[in-house]
Amino acid sequence: MIRVAVNGYGTIGKRVADAVTLQPDMELVGVAKTRPNHEAETAVRKGYPLYAAIEDRVHLFEEAGIELAGTVEELVEAADVVVDACPSGIGAENKAMYEAYDTPALYQGGESADLVDVSFNARGNYDEAEGADHVRVVSCNTTGLSRLLAPVEEAYGVEKARVTLVRRGGDPGQTGRGPINDILPNPVTLPSHHGPDVNTIFPDLDIDTLGMKVPATLMHTHSVNVTLEDAPDAADEVRDLLAEESRLFLIPERHDIDGAGKLKEYAYDIGRPRGDLWENCIWEESVSIEGDDLYLFQAIHQESDVVPENVDAIRAVLGEADRGESMARTDETMGVGL
Ligand code: NAD
Repeated sequence: MIRVAVNGYGTIGKRVADAVTLQPDMELVGVAKTRPNHEAETAVRKGYPLYAAIEDRVHLFEEAGIELAGTVEELVEAADVVVDACPSGIGAENKAMYEAYDTPALYQGGESADLVDVSFNARGNYDEAEGADHVRVVSCNTTGLSRLLAPVEEAYGVEKARVTLVRRGGDPGQTGRGPINDILPNPVTLPSHHGPDVNTIFPDLDIDTLGMKVPATLMHTHSVNVTLEDAPDAADEVRDLLAEESRLFLIPERHDIDGAGKLKEYAYDIGRPRGDLWENCIWEESVSIEGDDLYLFQAIHQESDVVPENVDAIRAVLGEADRGESMARTDETMGVGL
């Protein structure tokens, strides 16, 4: 059994912890939190051993009547691998602690690529993570782009990809984020950081990205244009190619899903935990071929698409399964694939 610790139990951390408990080859040693808020209480209710991320704050948990299993250093020492899901920049501060206990660490997309040995996407570069001590699971948007571009590159060759990312202003719980009434080119200058981030997975891929931010919390939406080296005659061929990928969901036209609101409604209706959509959601009828150019729209659920990737990264780092085995096991246990 792979003993997994989760340090940082927020939007990403709590989802990764739940996914780890579903894996037959993994055991969740515990989760670390800074504050005794509702998420701390829920972790305890789920039976997850809870550790204090900051020693000086142990008394806050005691005052709140929340029982602790220990401190984060004890958790890191007891684990074979730690998933750091702390806010951007805190992972970098934690690196020395993981090194002190010789525990391999996975970080999230908010950390700099320079912090780690390898940036990771299961479909894109699974094998490169084997044996690495510090691995970064790339951001929600980079995960969405990597999953899409990997099969397209393999089948047709990518001459150039151009993507405009219409990004949600914040997650539903991030009440302090915005904009609340604006449409922002963000950043105003090219490229947005997403293109260079995709190049941490596919160094040779030619990609330009532009970013915008809008007053929405549900999902991101990508407008994708890929000039292909060897374009197929018909868009149906591309649809068939994408439909074979378990982490790409082709939204059928008959579903009458016109945006992120109905996508989330669908996720709740089919009983997805937290209304999560782990797959890229690609509008089937948007997939078009014009000469050498492929066009499509996809929506990305920022809070959850990186979760199966974290599970795979755990196995990749420890060399416990090859890409196909790991992705299949993760998909089956979590129920990924629509
Ligand atoms: P979050 O704020 O929801 O959760 C972070 C958690 O870490 C919080 O519970 C916070 O209290 C806790 N924390 C803060 N300092 C800590 C410390 N020193 N030790 C332990 N825990 C600490 O953040 P998030 O959205 O889950 O983001 C985490 C990482 O995942 C970031 O790198 C982010 O860029 C990345 N990411 C976020 C999203 C998203 O849309 N939310 C998507 C993909 C990747």
